[in-house]
Amino acid sequence: MTQFDGYRLLACPLCHTIHATVNIVSFNFMSPEHWSDSYSVYSLFDNRQGLRQCVTCHDFFLQSDAPYLGHLTSEQASRLVETPPAYIPPSLRHKSGDTPDTRHSWIKRFKEWWSGKPHSQPPPEDTKDTQAVDEAQSKKYPRLKSANDEDLAGILEHQEKYSVSLIQAARILYWVYLNDTYRRTAKAMTEKGQIPYSAFKPTEIQINNMRTLLALLEFADGGSRAITIAELHRELGQFDRAIDILQKVAEPCLKSETILEAARQGISAPIPILYSYQKKK
Ligand SMILES: [Zn+2]
Repeated sequence: MTQFDGYRLLACPLCHTIHATVNIVSFNFMSPEHWSDSYSVYSLFDNRQGLRQCVTCHDFFLQSDAPYLGHLTSEQASRLVETPPAYIPPSLRHKSGDTPDTRHSWIKRFKEWWSGKPHSQPPPEDTKDTQAVDEAQSKKYPRLKSANDEDLAGILEHQEKYSVSLIQAARILYWVYLNDTYRRTAKAMTEKGQIPYSAFKPTEIQINNMRTLLALLEFADGGSRAITIAELHRELGQFDRAIDILQKVAEPCLKSETILEAARQGISAPIPILYSYQKKK
């Protein structure tokens, strides 16, 4: 179960603006979809690799690098932390008659809007009320927000500004984001009863990002990265390397076994990992 206990106050390491973020005391990873590249849909806990954006200087930092300045109880936070925007644009309002498919696309659009705009774009209607709300909000701690997918290319273009750990986080997010094009194609093909794997044709940008990410991960410590490294080799078509790594995983799991099987079959496309709670009854 995902549970919260108050808020943590974290300073932007660059301009020292204090942000508030929910203090997570337990979480789970249940999600309607999990994929081999770690993409998940509407996960109950999506840490976005810890990559955050400051609401004041708009620069990026890792949450782990943000100095901890204290804790707010839930009661304190209700007075001192900005509330999320209540305004939802009409185009994003969920309709009761929506099918599961339209709901899926609505969740994605809503998440994009939610993560990107709450502090910068007041709603176009009721401007007077909005200003009053903004004034009250400006005296409160802003919420810490994650970097958007659309920001990742810009971060990587200026990678000399950032630490290796931050660039690694951005490259993982960029890898998963760029695979979304294939995911959309795969979904459409699967619905027509077609096998989608041959539609995975990574672009030069994708290949370069995957290769650079592999170099970063292989340099880093930690056995838990083995599955990610193997998955990158598989998506690059280096099946023998992927199989070799996965056969040495000390504690195989459904994810490592699914990726191993795909590598043995010569499939390079990202694939869904089907946990028992997701299988059709
Ligand atoms: Zn800042």
